[in-house]
Amino acid sequence: MTTPAELPYDLLHRLPKTDLHCHLDGSLRIDTVLDLAKKQGVKLPTFDRGALTSLLVQGEHTTSLDDYLRAFDITLSVMQTEEALERSAYELAVDAHEENVRYLEVRYSPLLHIREGLRPAQVVEAVLRGLRTAKRELGIRYGVILCAIRSLGPESSLRIAELCVAFKNRGVVGFDLAGSEVNNPAKLHRQAFQLVIDNNINCTAHAGESFGPDSVHQAIHKCGAHRIGHGTRLVESGDLLNYVNDHRIALEVCPSSNVQTRAATSWETHPVDFYVDYGLRVTINTDNRLMSNTTVTKELQLCHQHYGWSLQTIKEIIIAGFKSAFMPYREKADLLAEIARELSTYTDPRGEMAGRVGLVESDLSTSGPLPTPPKPKLTAS
Ligand SMILES: [Zn+2]
Repeated sequence: MTTPAELPYDLLHRLPKTDLHCHLDGSLRIDTVLDLAKKQGVKLPTFDRGALTSLLVQGEHTTSLDDYLRAFDITLSVMQTEEALERSAYELAVDAHEENVRYLEVRYSPLLHIREGLRPAQVVEAVLRGLRTAKRELGIRYGVILCAIRSLGPESSLRIAELCVAFKNRGVVGFDLAGSEVNNPAKLHRQAFQLVIDNNINCTAHAGESFGPDSVHQAIHKCGAHRIGHGTRLVESGDLLNYVNDHRIALEVCPSSNVQTRAATSWETHPVDFYVDYGLRVTINTDNRLMSNTTVTKELQLCHQHYGWSLQTIKEIIIAGFKSAFMPYREKADLLAEIARELSTYTDPRGEMAGRVGLVESDLSTSGPLPTPPKPKLTAS
């Protein structure tokens, strides 16, 4: 028998995983988009499956984040009823479960689903119903993050923050600020963040994706974000990067999405390998399973192929995902112990990492192995 050059896809598929950055309106099944449109009498640009796929699934032809975001007009057009929302949420959880995602954080903005007259609270209830059913049937754990949208303005963000407060302990675990960063600084949404934080609710923010490290700085220091969505351009500020590292602020990295939106020009220039090398708390996520035609398994496989990440590194990233979950501490500690035990049963079939699985257990403490020194490309700020 020959030794595989790469970690087998099947092995990555079987590992227990998290997906902490996953947009509901970006993660529908293509057949569901078609089916919902037909049932609801919604006019799509095309009903041809192949043609619709090329409109929705991004790739080489995508030139910017704004380009990428246009595909959402299509999915949102079929997500304006309680049935559609419940089904989308349920199917997303089923798809995540299928690749052994044990904990899924689903995010979306209720304000984008009220065009046909639904109230925002009805939207939240419908999504939670779909996720509850999936949990009951499959055991997958979940949390919902409600997204404010930068371009909709601070008043809208406050409404989302109020919804987070209303649905705290009822499935909603966090608040997020999403949308295009250019000309929409996070600090304008400070009041919404303050309301969320005053109510002891977790928050994250898309930052450093289409704008530089200033955006990450604002998200952390002006808005109090506990995690950062993407953080691709954090690499441009060595000082802030060290702060993020020192405070173990998790980065929700979504590599395929970043390359498609041109947040990173290529896999080779994406800073995630450096982040991992430097010891930042990196989590790997899908962003949009439909638009990026991806899964957590695929993202891990691509990182393995582009950066040569070992099984050990992948295990540490998986552990970082569970550690960074917006989940109560005791529950998280129990889950982490279970996941670490399970991960220790997987070994690299190529043999190179044999005997090193103990590192995963040690990573359960706050002090992990010391990071390697920074590469010189960091600029001072
Ligand atoms: Zn996102």
